[in-house]
Amino acid sequence: MPLKDIPGQPRTKRFIRRLLRSDHIPHALLFTGMAGVGKKEVAFEFAKAVNCLDPRDLDSCGECPSCRKMDAGSHPDILHVQSEGASIKVDRIRSLRERLRFSPFEGKWRVIIIQDAQNLRAESGNALLKLLEEPPARNLFILTAIEPQMLLPTIVSRCCHIRFQPLEDGWIESYLVDAFSLSPSRAKEIAGLAMGSMERAKHLVEDDCVARRDEVIRAVAALYDMAMMDFFPFLAEWAKKSEDLEQDLECIKLWVRDLIYSRLLTDIQPPSRPEAAICGVVRNVAVERLFQLYEHVERAMRHLRQNANKLLTLESVCLAIKGGIYGQGCWNSIPQRR
Ligand SMILES: [Zn+2]
Repeated sequence: MPLKDIPGQPRTKRFIRRLLRSDHIPHALLFTGMAGVGKKEVAFEFAKAVNCLDPRDLDSCGECPSCRKMDAGSHPDILHVQSEGASIKVDRIRSLRERLRFSPFEGKWRVIIIQDAQNLRAESGNALLKLLEEPPARNLFILTAIEPQMLLPTIVSRCCHIRFQPLEDGWIESYLVDAFSLSPSRAKEIAGLAMGSMERAKHLVEDDCVARRDEVIRAVAALYDMAMMDFFPFLAEWAKKSEDLEQDLECIKLWVRDLIYSRLLTDIQPPSRPEAAICGVVRNVAVERLFQLYEHVERAMRHLRQNANKLLTLESVCLAIKGGIYGQGCWNSIPQRR
């Protein structure tokens, strides 16, 4: 898929074309923005365009040997670094140093794509920094990350930073209608929940979790007015009836993530229903608390997979919401990381 066919991101694509026209390519680019807005796709297409043997209108041709190898994932000058587990291993970054001692094999540029650079830990981040400080010629780094604040400032300062925007609902809607044969009204509903992320939209369709998500968030909203004497019986009923408690917790996690996004990225708003009743309350919660709650839900899901008691796990998450988010009870109800 050439650059021009990647959905959305008109500003980014204009900027990239300017780079290609000027032939003055910075040695490191940083693409930031929420998951599922096309950062990785643009990185690969840019790598293709700078190495294309027969570029057309500042874009790749898709037909020359270089483009074909890129499409097949067999081009020797594209290095794709991904997380293993929750982090990018330092050995992976160190091994790049060896590769970079040699010139690109056949391309004009060697392109090193570091996906989810927010998963660089201190050691791997510092190893990368050394490479960025003395970049060998004809090597181009493209880092993708959610937010620049999640990276070492010294890494960010060495990159040309490009911020990706959420995709327009209209584009997601038409994609869902074409790719999944959804009715326009259902596509519109899902696009509204996807908050500009194609990855999220696909997840919502594939898992058919829109209806369950609404039910779960309605239950979370109901906790706000609930007296403690009703709270525990309510959760006992929830745990008993739920067919998949881990998926319920996933819905809560996504809800918290949406709240975090809507606080950090000013250009998106969380979907308003069915939690409209508590929107005013959660809008005033400190973002650090939301991050803590997010981690807490993730931990609870992990415990559940390790056969923790279902009801106790649900109680722990809901107490954290009632205490930490609704301000009812003790803030310490979100346990700190051990
Ligand atoms: Zn080509």
